[in-house]
Amino acid sequence: MYPTIGRLFEQTVSKYPNKEALVDVSRNRRWTYGEWNQYVNRTAQAFLAAGVKKGDVVSVFMYNTSEFATVYFACAKIGAVINPINFRLKSGEVSYILNDSKPVLFIYEKDLEQQVKVLFDEFPLVSFWSVSDEAPERAVRFHDRVQEAQGSPPHVEMDENDLYAIMYTSGTTGQPKGVMHRHRDMVEQSLTCMQALQLRPSDRGLAAAPMFHCAELHCAFLPRVHNGCTTVIMHHFDAKKVLQTIQDEKISVMFAAPTMWNMMLQEELSQYETSSMRFGLYGGASMAPVLVRALGEKLGIQLVQAYGMTEMGPAIAFLFEDEQEAKAGSAGKACFNHEIRVVRPGTKGPSDPEDILPPGEAGEIIVRGPSMMKGYYNRNDATEQAVHKGWYHSGDIGYMDEEGYLFVSDRMDDMIISGGENIYPREVEDLLYEHDGVLDVAVLGEPDEKWGERVTAIVVRKTGELSEENLDAFCKNSQKLADYKRPRRFVFVDEMPRNASGKIQKFLLREKYTNIPAQ
Ligand code: ATP
Repeated sequence: MYPTIGRLFEQTVSKYPNKEALVDVSRNRRWTYGEWNQYVNRTAQAFLAAGVKKGDVVSVFMYNTSEFATVYFACAKIGAVINPINFRLKSGEVSYILNDSKPVLFIYEKDLEQQVKVLFDEFPLVSFWSVSDEAPERAVRFHDRVQEAQGSPPHVEMDENDLYAIMYTSGTTGQPKGVMHRHRDMVEQSLTCMQALQLRPSDRGLAAAPMFHCAELHCAFLPRVHNGCTTVIMHHFDAKKVLQTIQDEKISVMFAAPTMWNMMLQEELSQYETSSMRFGLYGGASMAPVLVRALGEKLGIQLVQAYGMTEMGPAIAFLFEDEQEAKAGSAGKACFNHEIRVVRPGTKGPSDPEDILPPGEAGEIIVRGPSMMKGYYNRNDATEQAVHKGWYHSGDIGYMDEEGYLFVSDRMDDMIISGGENIYPREVEDLLYEHDGVLDVAVLGEPDEKWGERVTAIVVRKTGELSEENLDAFCKNSQKLADYKRPRRFVFVDEMPRNASGKIQKFLLREKYTNIPAQ
């Protein structure tokens, strides 16, 4: 028997009623767990009064705000299904998700009103709630409704198997799919992260990475609340503000995507006092070992890596700070409640979970564990394709070493095959990051008449001086890169296209800089 997410929240509240729970730094507001619980109860009662029933979907289209954090637990208390939506999406993309998830309530903030207004007519049955006090006539004012609601705890019959969240994948591999998680999946994910990160009630976490993404929401924010920690919410990531807030709020733990840590490294680091940090957490994409080392040396922040995917809750493996040097480039070992295997990739359809490859041999990473999704919303076909004999097929390529450490090479779709040899872009990218002049890099395959594919590197320079010749010589002189893996073309760009969770959108680079069609 698992408790529900709402029940876990109440347990924390009863243990730490007077402890600081939530700080909204952008608006300088603070709540203890007791005060926050009242706010959550009022919000839940406001939803019930508006007719929201157990199983109804509530979409959230916001940056990181105290309202977002509050709606998260208000939904949990009444059995509503929370559906966070990427705040970078355009109205057409939001419309796609609304047509799929069919929410009864849609909560948004002023900064995103342009994208929302055009949806009013298209979705006449959806109740739009604005968290701003200057809402248009069609929208309900969130704060008025919450103010008017009664403050008693809501009573809704529910259990661990009820659906709690629908998280849409970013669609780097096709149309976004709604990943369904039940309360018990999220409780397990919370336990996974609490155990791995050894959180303490005295920890103060900074939520600067987007909360609509499962990495921040379920892997950082939720376990912090269950553990009685304090969460400091920053509206959106800004490297300078993050460093300043770490100093001012004595932040001890924080999740950020690799690109965010890299942005922090480019700041004037000596200006900030960051010794309160116990560790930093990263995941969602790989991070070049040279950058992980630089964070330790320049900022004194040791990094823990998480590997996972929305479908698994997300975190399933961790590499701890004291393993970073000996196992550089690894994603660590499976968490206590998850299993990982590397199997021979299926040519058509899913691979066979019994087809396990020996250490060192690369294949498809498949995983299973108690925080696995219930399935994709409205997409049984996609669920059957992804989950086979109880294992989730990640579409990632990787290998295990002799000691059981997982190395994630790349997405299967991103692998380059040149002259019959497999090339993992990540290996080339990790090397190029070692060049002082490289700020950001993505490696792709381009069609080649002789070799099938050849390697192309897209590079963002730190300064204008870096040339194609410099990088070519650097690769040629390196003892880490076989000749067939060497980029044959370098393209310099000003900025890398990234999604909100920090992944480089390679399909956009392919469209723009190579003649390979997007996958
Ligand atoms: P889609 O499934 O549509 O591509 P998405 O990119 O949003 O959507 P996520 O669940 O956010 O999917 O990301 C999961 C993927 O991110 C993993 O399968 C893996 O490729 C990559 N990833 C996550 N963590 C790591 C890590 N620590 N190292 C390398 N890659 C990682």
